[in-house]
Amino acid sequence: MRVAATDLTVLAGGVGAARFLQGVCDCVDRSRITVVGNVGDDLDVHGLHVSPDLDTVLYTLTGEIDEERGWGVRGDTPRALERARSLGADAWFWLGDLDIGLHMARTEWLAAGEPLSVATERLGRALGLGLRLVPATDDPLRTMVELDAGEVDFQTYYVRRGHADAVRGLRFAGAESARPAPGVIEALAAPVVVIAPSNPLISIGPILAVPGVRRALEQRPGRAVAVSPIVAGEALRGPAADMLRTLGHDPSPVGVAALYAGLVDSLVIDERDADLAAGIRRLGIEPVVAPAIMRDAASRRALAAAALEAGGLAVAVA
Ligand code: GDP
Ligand code: CA
Repeated sequence: MRVAATDLTVLAGGVGAARFLQGVCDCVDRSRITVVGNVGDDLDVHGLHVSPDLDTVLYTLTGEIDEERGWGVRGDTPRALERARSLGADAWFWLGDLDIGLHMARTEWLAAGEPLSVATERLGRALGLGLRLVPATDDPLRTMVELDAGEVDFQTYYVRRGHADAVRGLRFAGAESARPAPGVIEALAAPVVVIAPSNPLISIGPILAVPGVRRALEQRPGRAVAVSPIVAGEALRGPAADMLRTLGHDPSPVGVAALYAGLVDSLVIDERDADLAAGIRRLGIEPVVAPAIMRDAASRRALAAAALEAGGLAVAVA
């Protein structure tokens, strides 16, 4: 059973969010959904503008994604990249041939003066995305990561150095002067806002750092629900738990709840973390216990349904 006439906004990072959104799309008609995406990971590489988190959502929800890796286009080839490397280029950021084609289109439109939100909408329409995907901001906002070796941009930390360094600090360069992209603030007034199971610091953090976004969520007229990306003290993928630890947060759903205090009414946590419910409630957030590991389509849909129900949407899971 699908929910028909309810508007829903999801704040999203990359892979965790995209998988969760597959479940959401099984429960709610795409025409009713707005996804606000992270641009803190964006980079300019070989003259191309790449938006990894927006593209992961795009490729996942259009069925093009390489499911195993969680990013990039399934079956894509690295011929352009290998050619560049063989010629001596320092091509460290993996880009498949089909992926490069998409970045070429986006870069062309940006160079012609189109905002990223318009370019993103064009890509979504061309690939049959069916829902509204909007970057948190059209202005440059870049996550910078403080390591013992000094400050580097996000992709240097994540890809080039393989997220092996301890993270000592985060900075969202450009955030102070960034404006929310058209429609972002309006989207936060939806009856239900869900924060996807994404890294709270580097996927959701940059969205909340755009002036006006945090306040709009604090003053939401509807209900807001987050899904914990941390289960049993571990991130299911990526450096979230280590990063929470080195930055002085509790690497548990309670730590996630502390970061979202005032921003959400409920937090979906896994059954294994049910004993943490009281600590979450103490932060003014209602814990909702549900199986929170997304193994397959059914578990993604069930997790999405749990979050949507916590937001007050009646969803019958097949
Ligand atoms: P990235 O930008 O590609 O790193 O993606 P996100 O920030 O959207 O997602 C990364 C987060 O997703 C990590 O913190 C993971 O712990 C979380 N995650 C991945 N798989 C699952 C899952 O099956 N369940 C839950 N609850 N979280 C998950
Ligand atoms: Ca990301």
